[in-house]
Amino acid sequence: MEEGSNTVGTCGELAGKVALVTGAGRGIGRGIAGKLASLGALVLINYRGSELRAREAAEEIRAAGGRAECLGCDVSDYAACGAMVETVIKEYGHVDILVNNAGITRDNLLMRMSEQEYDEVLDTNLKGAFNTIRHLSRYFLKQRSGKIINISSVSGVMGNPGQANYSASKAGLIGLTKSVARELASRGVCVNAVAPGFIDTEMTQTLSEKAKSSGLAAVPMGRMGTVEDVAEVVAFLAGNKSDYITGQVICVDGGMAI
Ligand code: NDP
Repeated sequence: MEEGSNTVGTCGELAGKVALVTGAGRGIGRGIAGKLASLGALVLINYRGSELRAREAAEEIRAAGGRAECLGCDVSDYAACGAMVETVIKEYGHVDILVNNAGITRDNLLMRMSEQEYDEVLDTNLKGAFNTIRHLSRYFLKQRSGKIINISSVSGVMGNPGQANYSASKAGLIGLTKSVARELASRGVCVNAVAPGFIDTEMTQTLSEKAKSSGLAAVPMGRMGTVEDVAEVVAFLAGNKSDYITGQVICVDGGMAI
């Protein structure tokens, strides 16, 4: 299915739910936003630099009959995340689903990796998720419900040469997921991680041909994943069919992490 081609209504499994998806102007986040909207959720599309594409994503959702709004915020900025959450609560009253999807790579071999490359990746991929979870959790606790889905990576499960920073951030995200799941479970809040493998987005399109073919060779199913492959699993974790699942990591990777 093409991005934004979902048929949407205000009825559906997620009708009445408000979903905040970080980094949703493009790539996997955009696919997740479209999928959640197609199930009836009002989707809040967070972006950092891609304002135009975030607006396009929201337009696509509205054109298909769904509901979406855009919110600019750099998730690595703790105070800015707090302000974003306050704005959302003021405007919509509640948030039911948080998808921490925003992520970056700054690949380099360890011996060449700069402190800046390390810090930027950790600040966005790991601290960014902490920031949104920290600010939103008090509302989830008060309402005694909520779904938090963190987009990790098979690199965080298995490690990957050239990605010490990225793998550390994504493994950290798994630890964050499990700890917060334990803390919030008794209050009806589910916290899970999805670990995609090799997915066809701009993040992987910019890899060298050599890196692409070795990436593909590591996939037992022999094909790259699509944003829809990931979005389907996120939608399952966002809905009530997964109400008894928390603290889990689901690999969406064509078998890479077997
Ligand atoms: P893209 O590079 O296509 O998109 C990254 C998204 O993250 C953009 O929407 C970008 O927004 C957003 N983003 C980056 N930094 C920030 C920030 N500081 N604040 C807010 N938003 C930010 O990547 P993918 O769609 O491929 O990846 C999405 C997620 O999936 C990432 O967490 C990635 O690590 C993970 N993943 C991807 C895999 C793949 O093979 N593609 C495999 C495993 C995991 P903007 O453009 O507005 O800056």
